[in-house]
Amino acid sequence: METLTPRMPKVPPDFPRGVKLLHDPVRNKGSAFTLEERNLLGLRGLLPPRVMDQDIQVRRVMDNVRGKTTDLERYIYLVSLQDRNETLFYRVVVDHLDEIMPIIYTPTVGQACVQYGHIFRRPRGMFISLEDRGCVGDMLMNWPHEDVRIIVVTDGERILGLGDQGADGMGIPVGKLSLYSACAGIHPTKCLPITLDVGTDNPDLLRDPLYVGLPRRRLRGQAYEDFLEEFMEAVTKRFPRAVVQLEDFATANAFHLLEKYRGQVASFDDDIQGTGSVALAGIYSALRISEQPLLDQRFLFLGAGEAGIGIGDLIVAAMVDEGMDEAEARKRCWFVDSKGLVESSRKDLAHHKLPYAHDHEPLTGLLEAVKAVRPTGLIGVSGVPQTFTRPVIEAMGEISERPMIFALSNPTSKAECTARQAYTWTRGRAIFASGSPFDPVDYGGRTFVPGQGNNAYIFPGVGLGAIAADTREVTDEMFFEAAKVLASMVTDRDLQIGRIYPSLGMIREVSRRIAIRVAEIAYERGLARAAQTDDIEGVVGDLIFDPHEYSHYV
Ligand code: NAD
Repeated sequence: METLTPRMPKVPPDFPRGVKLLHDPVRNKGSAFTLEERNLLGLRGLLPPRVMDQDIQVRRVMDNVRGKTTDLERYIYLVSLQDRNETLFYRVVVDHLDEIMPIIYTPTVGQACVQYGHIFRRPRGMFISLEDRGCVGDMLMNWPHEDVRIIVVTDGERILGLGDQGADGMGIPVGKLSLYSACAGIHPTKCLPITLDVGTDNPDLLRDPLYVGLPRRRLRGQAYEDFLEEFMEAVTKRFPRAVVQLEDFATANAFHLLEKYRGQVASFDDDIQGTGSVALAGIYSALRISEQPLLDQRFLFLGAGEAGIGIGDLIVAAMVDEGMDEAEARKRCWFVDSKGLVESSRKDLAHHKLPYAHDHEPLTGLLEAVKAVRPTGLIGVSGVPQTFTRPVIEAMGEISERPMIFALSNPTSKAECTARQAYTWTRGRAIFASGSPFDPVDYGGRTFVPGQGNNAYIFPGVGLGAIAADTREVTDEMFFEAAKVLASMVTDRDLQIGRIYPSLGMIREVSRRIAIRVAEIAYERGLARAAQTDDIEGVVGDLIFDPHEYSHYV
């Protein structure tokens, strides 16, 4: 047996050993346990003899990932790696973000949710169902980690563009929290994914014997409100320093819950606020290309849901910040929904659309709306593909020398137009961004690299900053400032190739800088509960987990 050297720190008495350690995903290193560790931790004989370093482990994982024939198989493989060895999982994600992000998050995660009950292997996160009413507080005691700092919670009613997936929507909070750890370095033990199972109205799931949730119809009305209230109270009591991110709730509930809880709990809705922030950052970059002031712009949105209103509200905040009156700024944002132009004579408008219901005659088609509003930016958040038709895009090209055309609907198949269409139909003048990735486009002797307005540029950094300051509230101002930080990291070189976001390889640095700014705001506004500090950068840095190193004892 190899002798022990004094390099090893003393093993804490409650540290798992032997097989228990190999089954602990937070501490397991698999074949990378050194001989010294194998001796000390009762692992000899339980692992193949050759000690491998993390680089070799990554190689093995990537060979496996690339050897699979479908993205869903890649997803299943990666989730099982996450269940075995989290540090290695994050090392793989961080080192191969471009390749892995579309698998552990959109678009593949959507497919994984649709198939969730069929590919289910091990639970991850917490499921809290209607049957737990009255004892949610006690149940939360079952979670093994004490210092939870960020929670992503969904009730599964509007999973991506896939509608009601009920409890099978758990893939989304799990995937989103993986991005918090990968993109901002928040330690996985500080992250808690939660699905509230309030039933489902999806008839396919109700018929499916493999559906993991309660096979009953959704709870609605006051009973739903009461359940959410019990959950929010219990979760803030059990994890008083946690930020709660509301995720993929149906549109009306999303707006309502955000308004109800934002002042009471450190909470936010990424679909609304994160989307607003990432889109505003893209607009700032686009205006650097066109050399136009923000206050000269007019925006037309196709889609007036969470994403559209979230973006509109942040554009208004940005215009007000530059000195425009709020009412005037709102008139710079126009919306078309499934019934046509959102205007003041309509009687069917949901509450969240009312601030944008300006006086105008009714119009039904997008092209007429473009001709009437004469926008300089066209933003697609309808979930309906190919709605930015050639006449629409050509009209944009006539109104503006450098029209902003953002086709943000996900996944790629739902985009309002393709990158090629936007560039070709404006003869290379469009400044284009999409929600899902598009390949570079060659046109007129130039190569254009479309920017991807991915919320992952924003929410991990906002979450990290909120945690660092232990903020009482997550405010709109934080998202506004996050947009400015993101935009400031777009280089002239990015802009020359038409890319209005930094490359994904920059994302950890983007998150770090956003986190610092968000924490500063929390202190400036008196929202921080953490001790006063002169070294916010240091506090943020100390929270960042680096999966390139296995720590000895967590
Ligand atoms: P939502 O359901 O809240 O809103 C959709 C809106 O589109 C509604 O106002 C609806 O009336 C409207 N709509 C539906 N059919 C239409 C039609 N034929 N013509 C015009 N309007 C129509 O959904 P959401 O959360 O706002 O998301 C919308 C889309 O935006 C999704 O595809 C989503 O993937 C995408 N999204 C992208 C990003 C991003 O790129 N970063 C972020 C969030 C959402």
